[in-house]
Amino acid sequence: MANMALKKNEMPAQAPDVRNKNFSEVALGYTEEQAVDEANRCLGCKNRPCVGGCPVAIDIPEFIAKIKERDFEGAYQVINRSSSLPAVCGRVCPQETQCEQRCVRGIKGEPVAIGRLERFVADWHNENVKEPPVRPKSNGHKVAVIGSGPSGLTCAGELAKKGYDVHVFEALHLAGGVLVYGIPEFRLPKSIVQKEIDTLKALGVTIETNMVIGKVLSIDELFENGFESVYIGSGAGLPRFMRIPGENLKGVYSANEFLTRVNLMKAYREESSTPIQHAKKVAVVGGGNVAMDAARCAKRLGAEEVYIVYRRSETELPARAEEVEHAKEEGIVFRLLTNPVEVLGDENGFVSGIKCVEMELGEPDESGRRRPVVKEGSEFVLDVDCVIMSIGTSPNPLIKSTTKGLETQKWGGIIADEETGRTSREGVYAGGDAVTGAATVILAMGAGKAAAKAMDAYIQNKD
Ligand code: FAD
Ligand code: SF4
Ligand code: SF4
Repeated sequence: MANMALKKNEMPAQAPDVRNKNFSEVALGYTEEQAVDEANRCLGCKNRPCVGGCPVAIDIPEFIAKIKERDFEGAYQVINRSSSLPAVCGRVCPQETQCEQRCVRGIKGEPVAIGRLERFVADWHNENVKEPPVRPKSNGHKVAVIGSGPSGLTCAGELAKKGYDVHVFEALHLAGGVLVYGIPEFRLPKSIVQKEIDTLKALGVTIETNMVIGKVLSIDELFENGFESVYIGSGAGLPRFMRIPGENLKGVYSANEFLTRVNLMKAYREESSTPIQHAKKVAVVGGGNVAMDAARCAKRLGAEEVYIVYRRSETELPARAEEVEHAKEEGIVFRLLTNPVEVLGDENGFVSGIKCVEMELGEPDESGRRRPVVKEGSEFVLDVDCVIMSIGTSPNPLIKSTTKGLETQKWGGIIADEETGRTSREGVYAGGDAVTGAATVILAMGAGKAAAKAMDAYIQNKD
């Protein structure tokens, strides 16, 4: 029977004052009963507006209909036709601006909790279905994938299923890209990413870690070694700084460095050999998901006060609403309409504060958001001993500078065809953050999938 409740079934979660002291997952997932109850809120609309909001076009009404029938594995199979990382996307996709934004139940009340249902189905499958994937018959062709983030992993998986001998080259010592070095354990447990990587290996994908393409091997050398096509999924991991005085003081981190130390190197564990500053008062500059993750990690490392310093207002915060809510519940203080102008240091070169100015919102700029303008005479100092800069990243120029004929944008993004990922260099395809700049997991996956199809066509046509 249809459930006409206006609100979504709530997601069980750890209490804020418990979870802000540990790194275990915050959201605990629906029970079977909650999932079926939530699925019954779906009207199974014939025109399927929600599907148009999903970048990989998952058949949402069909998978939800299977949940209603308690056919959870059937629901998983429907999702799996379009997405290879449902346990990841069900957790981190910005559903509120994608599938759920188009849900008709959102007109009068809250939309169907599509993301939470996707997560439930993926977790149910992972817990209950243990069959290893069937390794496809080799088609005799060899392809290379640079980078093991969601884009590279998806491309690798799609090509492996077609029988390609796929080699993934990853610069770090662990595969997974931002899913392992950026997004914290409390939002995305690393065992979930590891499971996806194990599945790829079972399909026959070779993952070579500690392989920086452009240093250890160039793309030209990959072709010389028999790879017939190359996919670049190297992400956008180069941090930006504000270029204000004091950014080289001890205690200033880029969010990438800080999160890598915490997530990849597990610096919060006593046995970890990677040091991290256990600061008392931390300012995180920026308002995106990355800033929220850094702030929440700093809190979990024991900081008494953690500030988000953001130059626009709450309406313009680019982070997901849920992440902002979680950060607030955990005691993160938002210093909105505030912009840093200098990081201050003590006589030993350590951070002792951050000088800021207050801002007002003026006319909209080219991004459509109202431009922040400095309020005259509003300078003040925030007393902190650590500053984390989280104002964006761009693609690392290494691959561009070592690959002949590969065209890039001025800001470093690789120029690639939107539909196919084809670049200016024959046989080389690219997608994900390396092309778009910092974006989302699901868009990176979509690009990897589209490029795999184009690479397959390219190689088959050559034959
Ligand atoms: P990446 O995930 O960056 O992977 C690229 C990989 O390539 C890396 O492993 C890198 O080491 C490797 N590499 C780079 N150069 C080389 C080289 N020369 N040779 C070999 N390997 C190389 N998105 C969401 O949808 N929801 C979220 O909640 C969310 N939260 C985020 C939180 C943080 C902290 C960050 C940093 C990002 C977040 N994002 C989120 C964005 C999302 O993670 C990215 O858009 C996505 O991971 C991009 O995937 P990718 O495969 O293109 O690149
Ligand atoms: Fe929604 Fe993301 Fe799942 Fe698509 S992949 S249905 S956008 S949660
Ligand atoms: Fe169900 Fe909402 Fe999609 Fe309609 S729009 S099919 S109610 S999820």
